[in-house]
Amino acid sequence: MSDSAAELVFDPDALRERYRVERDKRLREDANEQYVEMTGTFAHYLEDPYVDEKTERKPVTDEVDVVLIGGGFGGLQAGARLRDAGIKDIKIIEKGGAFGGTWYWNRYPGAQCDIEAYCYLPLLEELNYVPKEKYAFAREILDHSEAIGQHFDLHDCALFQTEVTELRWDESIERWIVSTNRSDAIKARFVSMANGPLHRPKLPGIPGVRDFKGHTFHTSRWDYDYTGGGPDGGLDKLGDKKIAIIGTGATAIQCVPFLGEAAEHLYVFQRTPSTVDVRGNSPTDPAWAEGLQPGWQKHRMENFNSMISGVPQEEDLVNDGWTDLIGKMINQFQNAKADSNMSLEQMIETANFEKMEEIRARVDELVEDDDVAEKLKPYYKMFCKRPTFNDDYLPTFNRSNVTLVDTDGKGVERITEKGLVVDGVEYEVDCIIYSTGFEVGTSYTRRSGYDVIGREAKSLSDHWRDGTRSLHGMGSHGFPNVFIMNTSQGGFTANFPHLLDESAVHQAHIIAHALAQGYNTVEVTATAEEEWVDTIVGFTGGPLGGLGGPDCTPGYYNNEGQPNPNAQQSAPYGGGSIRFFELLKEWREDGNFEGLTFK
Ligand code: NDP
Repeated sequence: MSDSAAELVFDPDALRERYRVERDKRLREDANEQYVEMTGTFAHYLEDPYVDEKTERKPVTDEVDVVLIGGGFGGLQAGARLRDAGIKDIKIIEKGGAFGGTWYWNRYPGAQCDIEAYCYLPLLEELNYVPKEKYAFAREILDHSEAIGQHFDLHDCALFQTEVTELRWDESIERWIVSTNRSDAIKARFVSMANGPLHRPKLPGIPGVRDFKGHTFHTSRWDYDYTGGGPDGGLDKLGDKKIAIIGTGATAIQCVPFLGEAAEHLYVFQRTPSTVDVRGNSPTDPAWAEGLQPGWQKHRMENFNSMISGVPQEEDLVNDGWTDLIGKMINQFQNAKADSNMSLEQMIETANFEKMEEIRARVDELVEDDDVAEKLKPYYKMFCKRPTFNDDYLPTFNRSNVTLVDTDGKGVERITEKGLVVDGVEYEVDCIIYSTGFEVGTSYTRRSGYDVIGREAKSLSDHWRDGTRSLHGMGSHGFPNVFIMNTSQGGFTANFPHLLDESAVHQAHIIAHALAQGYNTVEVTATAEEEWVDTIVGFTGGPLGGLGGPDCTPGYYNNEGQPNPNAQQSAPYGGGSIRFFELLKEWREDGNFEGLTFK
């Protein structure tokens, strides 16, 4: 335990009660229905502001070995591992104008990855690249995505500005027909779905959301024509503008300092405060980079993953806000070993209270006005919501041109022609920026934008109606030759590209085997699927008691606080990602392709 943590004093009963009260304020019966889908009159929010125009091309009807859906880290890593396995005949379908996925779309000022870049950026050793700083900004990540595409020769096989509209299995030719919004009908032997988990932005269903006459955009389609400047800031067109930003999640935490610096006035509309921990970015030490030994990145990724999974390590290589909490829990555990009265749950709860007390104390340190500071303090368990890390967000509220409009858990009351209403007060603004996140809890088809129609015309949405059904989260019975890259029934880690790489290696292994042996199909057996569902359902909680949880403040981690009968079945593998990755490796080494049938 750190010295500062040891000095903290708190009343666990009072905190538990405060957490309950704050959670109850934010609970809404309409749960995921409170959000508005970006279709119809809202479809323009999805337009790509980063390309000059849509390139024209003829529809593609080729046949290929593998179609990869998505040119973000998932598609790029899958492409890289297929190339490693000697597979050349690939097409990548990507709705953006370039590779990068989430880093293509999220170019808002200050966009930065809050997982250490040496662990997060994929394939660093393969590309012989060491990131410039401990935490990389979006531009470097976008450039790295492009570099992966170049290195693995994935450019020529990419169809950019193209969205998949349907995947349909054609039994007569044993191929998938991949249809797109460009009238393509590509025949694919194998398909890998690397859509990404936070793929479709959403709007809040605030009454009057259509009425506002000023300018609006979503953070994932930043309008630099309107704001001026770029991802590094300098939003020089905002000097005479009153700006509202709705939302205070991980995105807003990063862009609010830049808006505060530039706008005539900035109103930050808050429903639930985020935890904002120390960022402490630093440039990469060239001597350290020089001394890195082969295998360093995998070793570091595994060290980070072990630390955040609660597996004690001799050394914490990453040593940041993510590993700090878990390190504390391990210390708690070791200190309390002698005290047989303390259960593991109590130790975890105490460590969590301590961490949150530190987070709240930091607000007092950085925010001058006591009332504002109080409103910015999060009262819920760490990991109920996505933790954030930033050194400039909280001090932004010391600026005279920045106002925090706290909605006391209720959200913005109404949007009018001229602005936003909270507690009966209208705030007139020129522009509303929606920092309101992405669809998570809605149906698979709504989130991905297409459905997958397998054998006997059965859709994946139907097959998964009562929760995910898969082997290892990657393949389902009745859906031959299709692979899914996701956390549901797979291994969850905060370092998402780590999971993507393990999935990419696994898929490439299966596809390479099928192609080498001349098989037309590979499919998960009904028994293997059933057994994996039983394995997933058999776990309760996780090493951290699970993300979210029913007693947490509502959000996308816990289905907006509403019971979700499918949650247990659609959860990640409960034994933790370390064990999950080992299990995949053992499965491959076993060589029997257990649970799959090849024909
Ligand atoms: P979030 O879903 O995290 O945040 C949405 C925000 O909008 C919340 O603060 C929410 O409040 C608020 N909101 C929604 N409806 C209303 C309403 N009616 N009135 C007022 N406020 C409202 O989206 P983000 O884009 O911030 O982040 C999404 C995810 O992207 C993160 O969780 C993270 O996984 C990822 N990300 C990762 C980064 C990284 O560094 N790796 C950086 C940025 C994002 P409430 O909390 O009450 O629901």
